[in-house]
Amino acid sequence: MAGNTIWTIKKLIIWTTQYFKNHGLESPRLDTELLLAHVLHKSRIYLYTDFDEIVEPSELAQYREYIKKRVGGFSTAAIIGEKDFMGLTFRVNEHVLIPRPDTETWLEKVIQYHRSEPGLKVADLGTGSGAILLSFLYYCKEDTGVGVDISEEALAVAKENGKNLDLDDRVVWRQGDYLTTLEEGEQFDGILSNPPYIPSGDIPGLQKEVQHEPALALDGGEDGLDFYRKLAESADSHLKEGGFLAMEFGIHQAEPVLTLFKETGKYDSFEIIKDYGGIERALYCRKKENE
Ligand code: GLN
Repeated sequence: MAGNTIWTIKKLIIWTTQYFKNHGLESPRLDTELLLAHVLHKSRIYLYTDFDEIVEPSELAQYREYIKKRVGGFSTAAIIGEKDFMGLTFRVNEHVLIPRPDTETWLEKVIQYHRSEPGLKVADLGTGSGAILLSFLYYCKEDTGVGVDISEEALAVAKENGKNLDLDDRVVWRQGDYLTTLEEGEQFDGILSNPPYIPSGDIPGLQKEVQHEPALALDGGEDGLDFYRKLAESADSHLKEGGFLAMEFGIHQAEPVLTLFKETGKYDSFEIIKDYGGIERALYCRKKENE
């Protein structure tokens, strides 16, 4: 990006898209538009209505920094501090996992299943930015929820998102270690979770962008299944009869996760949900009702 050129929005979009392409980024145009729109404090649509607007030197300087960060391995969401998920915008930072489209596929289903049952109380374990729980509550307008995370910094982000979405009065945030944070005898109509599920040994080989996300939200122990073992062991004591459990897992984990829950003998209505890429991505099941 030469210093003496007059840079319009249009020129910047063309230049940066090519630059990102050369660096092998997966969605060069989208990343370009999101970063530029953020620098200019505008929506993406505005870029198109003002294609010939000249970008100010101070804005250009900031934009250059963003481009450097992006090719240096930071995701666009991490740079601009926000990510769209389930049609809503969430604040994110280095303390939380950035919400993924793959999570939308199973969460949409769970919301469809339960949005006509008003008054449910749900828990989200390892809530991070709060994206899963807050989306559920946003679309299930009379439900309430408890969001749990071990990280105080993550909970600060979740709280901010809860406020921004005006869901404060229907959500409670609690800091603590996963299931143990729920009170003795406290029962829910549903438990949601996208726990850390990457096998510890795979973490160093992950994409650069993911390396910048908190290990705490990724590392699922030696085989990646530590959190499913915890859930299989005691989630049922926090579920009402017929209550649902919906949890995301990683590639090749459908079989072992399903087995863990089937073996307890406590659940039925098992369903494996696939993501946009056709990969098995989540397990939904329900606590058996007493006959
Ligand atoms: N989906 C994330 C990834 O593949 C992992 C999220 C998690 O561990 N829950 O990088």
